[in-house]
Amino acid sequence: MEKECAFCQIVRGEKPADIVFQNESVVVFKDIRPHAPVHLLIVPKKHIRSLNDLAEQDQEVLSEMILIARKVAQEKEISNSGYRIVFNVERGGGQVIFHLHMHLLGGW
Ligand code: AMP
Ligand code: ZN
Repeated sequence: MEKECAFCQIVRGEKPADIVFQNESVVVFKDIRPHAPVHLLIVPKKHIRSLNDLAEQDQEVLSEMILIARKVAQEKEISNSGYRIVFNVERGGGQVIFHLHMHLLGGW
């Protein structure tokens, strides 16, 4: 857990967020600046800076994030119309929050 990290603060309940799902290891909340009718962020509770820093022992959380994205997409009824899942990796890849997260975009 990083004191100054916005997503760690959401995980700890110190910063408000519109949380749509959470379990022991992952939290899903609405993006504050949505780029799609449905724009959610799938975030591991463990602080990992970016995909570059994902360790081999973190593989499980990555597959869990993808399965949760699929489940939430079904619940939001965007599965059939389709959706994108996106990782921005480091500054050149558009990452601005340095706590690993996956964007789920859909509902067009
Ligand atoms: P990225 O460019 O991949 O790092 O994306 C970070 C995303 O987090 C952006 O789409 C922001 O709109 C979103 N974001 C930043 N702060 C918050 C917050 N406090 N609650 C929800 N979404 C946020
Ligand atoms: Zn963090």
